[in-house]
Amino acid sequence: TGSTRPQRILRAVQKNSTRGSPCSVVNAIDDYCKHKEWAMNVGDEKGIIVDDVVLELKPITVLELGTYCAYSTVRIANLLPPEAKLITLEFNAESAAIAREIITWAGLEEKIQLIIGASGDWIPRLKEEFGIETFDLVFLDHWKDRYLPDTKLLEKCGLLKPGAVLLADNVICPGTPDYLDYVRNSPRMAGRGAEE
Ligand code: SAM
Ligand code: MG
Repeated sequence: TGSTRPQRILRAVQKNSTRGSPCSVVNAIDDYCKHKEWAMNVGDEKGIIVDDVVLELKPITVLELGTYCAYSTVRIANLLPPEAKLITLEFNAESAAIAREIITWAGLEEKIQLIIGASGDWIPRLKEEFGIETFDLVFLDHWKDRYLPDTKLLEKCGLLKPGAVLLADNVICPGTPDYLDYVRNSPRMAGRGAEE
């Protein structure tokens, strides 16, 4: 067909969801990826765990590593308090372009700052370029070999508020043993996380 999976996900959103309704966008992506083709979105089952963390924590500043088509971005941003901000990082320009369209379709472009680039390059620039002090919540859902180095980089850059929650997907399967070992054993980390 010549189209990419992100393009097909965007089309499903435009066809099966309501502009300005983040929930309907999330549902349209879940429905498409359940019945038509799998995609690497966090999905509805684990999405409910993410929802619970967001609703309990009520974070004002959130960082997401790995946007893909902005499924989790829209899901999280929709649950944030009005004054909150979500920064999401995606280094694949094509996915990021689709993500931007989906964020706009959902009507959440005011709450979400999408940055196109690699986490290792951008984390050290977030304070300066985006006026971020610290993050209350970080959702790690990018490539697994970056979980540990990016967590250490966030600490080094002073970007984790005391008590900040790190929520990480895919730590059991395919697995991130170095990251798990660090967050479970570091005295600075009160290892709390939904682990799958
Ligand atoms: N969080 C998304 C969701 O649930 O809808 C899914 C993200 S997908 C599992 C992982 C994404 O991370 C891919 O789109 C990939 O291009 C991106 N990525 C991987 N490593 C990255 C890095 N170091 N910096 C920025 N983006 C990265
Ligand atoms: Mg994942």
